[in-house]
Amino acid sequence: MSKFNILVVEDEDAIREMLTMVLQQADFAVQSAPDVKQAQKILEESSPDLLLLDWMLPVTSGVEWARRLKNNPDHRDVPIILLTARGEEEDKVKGLEIGADDYVTKPFSPKELVARIRAVLRRSGRMHDLAQIVLDGLVLDTEQHRLSIDGRQLTVSPTEFRLMQFFMTHPDKVYSRSQLLDQVWGRSIYIEERTVDVHIRRLRKVLAEHGREDLVQTVRGFGYRFSMRE
Ligand code: CA
Repeated sequence: MSKFNILVVEDEDAIREMLTMVLQQADFAVQSAPDVKQAQKILEESSPDLLLLDWMLPVTSGVEWARRLKNNPDHRDVPIILLTARGEEEDKVKGLEIGADDYVTKPFSPKELVARIRAVLRRSGRMHDLAQIVLDGLVLDTEQHRLSIDGRQLTVSPTEFRLMQFFMTHPDKVYSRSQLLDQVWGRSIYIEERTVDVHIRRLRKVLAEHGREDLVQTVRGFGYRFSMRE
């Protein structure tokens, strides 16, 4: 499998180097630039699979460049994840309105960033050959529909597999039962929210057989979270 090529655009050296290291460790090929001018050159020369773009850049901001790219037929299909220190909902809406594919707020965990990149690549259709999602000994193979922990196979139903796939690409965030129903079961059919609890319970039971029931956590009064944090 050839590596996916990520272009990182970030003016702060330390963050750019950290991002490069994190992405290389996750088996991506990485190119980087401190500003839009240099990034544009790399984009033309090597057509990266995804842009990881800092919102605040000197001269031309990341959000402005993203807007231009999404209006350019030659480049609009390149997925863009905006990276920002801002956490305000308004900025998020603005970022997504101009056509960014996702939005990650600093500070973020490397695991979350890598999971979001994989999710965006998968959604963009570049991804069918990224069949495996790997997190800390946990391997989810979307082609063979197999889930394993430390090389040991887990027996899960198709629904529990999809639930796990959603969780592994959206770690460290809390989802309500109704959000999980939308994301995992789809909106087209009516299913009671209790159904989510039933499948979570079964999934936990399987994980517990491998000592990893901690992966799926109940957040009282809201829903569930998948997290690998201690
Ligand atoms: Ca910056």
